[in-house]
Amino acid sequence: MRMISKTQIDDAVIWAVANQKGGVGKTVTTVNLAAALSAMGKRVLVVDLDPQGSASNNLLSGGAGWGGVYGVMRGEIGAREAVQKDQCAGIDVLAADEDLVAVEVELVGIVGREAVLAGRLEGIRRLYDYVVIDSPPTMGFLAINALVAADRVLVPIQCEYMALEGLTRLMATLDRVAALKGLERIKRMYVLTMYDQRTNLSSDVVREVREHLGGEVAKTMIPRAIKVAEAPGFGRTVLDHDPWGAASLAYRVLAEEVANVSRS
Ligand code: ADP
Ligand code: MG
Repeated sequence: MRMISKTQIDDAVIWAVANQKGGVGKTVTTVNLAAALSAMGKRVLVVDLDPQGSASNNLLSGGAGWGGVYGVMRGEIGAREAVQKDQCAGIDVLAADEDLVAVEVELVGIVGREAVLAGRLEGIRRLYDYVVIDSPPTMGFLAINALVAADRVLVPIQCEYMALEGLTRLMATLDRVAALKGLERIKRMYVLTMYDQRTNLSSDVVREVREHLGGEVAKTMIPRAIKVAEAPGFGRTVLDHDPWGAASLAYRVLAEEVANVSRS
C-alpha cells in the first residue's frame, strides 16, 4: 500500500462515520455533525461514500447531479472541481450516486485500492477543518476506503436490543485498517443514537455500551426525535429544521466533543 503522506498541522481532521449495521444513524450523524461543526465556524467537507446517496440528497437539493465522489475515485475529476456547495448549512459536499456501486469492480486491479480515497483527498484536506465521511452499511471496498482515509472513526450505536452485536466484526476491521496504515490502533468515538429516555430498554443499552466501551463513548447521546426523521424531506439538516430541539442541541454538543478530541 502506498504510504499516506504525513498529516500537516493545518490539514483537516478526517472522520469516517462507520458501522456495518444499517439504520443506526450514520447518515443523520454525518449530516448533522457536519452542520454543527459548520455552525461553530469550521470549514467542513462531507464525503458521501454510500451509493444510496442519502447524505447528498439531504444536503444538495437534486442530489449528486454530476461529478461527485465517483468521478473523483476514478481519477476523472479532481476533488476540488467535484465539490458542490450545500445551500443552507454552508457545507461542501462530495456527492454520491448509484454509479458508486461500480467503482469497486472498476478499481479491482489497482495497487493500494484501499487507499484510493485517502490519496484523492490529500490535495484538498488543507482547505477544511473537518472532513466527515458517510459510509455504506457493508464492510466492502468503499467502507474500507473511508476508514483508511480517516484519522478517526465515529461509530453510531443505536439504542436497541443487541446494540453491541456486530461490533466485534467492526473492531476486527478497524484492527486490519490499523495494520494497513502501520498504526497500533485506530482512534475512535462511539455515539449512542435514537436514545429514548422513556424506555428502560434505552437505559439498559446505555449501561451495557458504557460498560463495554468505556471512555470511548461520547458523553452526549442523540435522542430519538421525529424532527430528525422529518428534516431530510424538507432538504434541511436537523439544525435548520428544529434548531432548538433536543436532537439539534445534542449534535451541537457532540460537535464540541469531536472538536475537543480531534487534535489529541
Ligand atoms: P444509517 O445511515 O446508519 O443507515 P440513518 O442515519 O439513515 O442510518 O438512520 C436510519 C433511520 O433512522 C432513518 O430513517 C432516520 O431518519 C432515522 N433516525 C436516525 N436518527 C434518528 C433520531 N435521532 N431520531 C429519530 N429518527 C432517527
Ligand atoms: Mg446511511
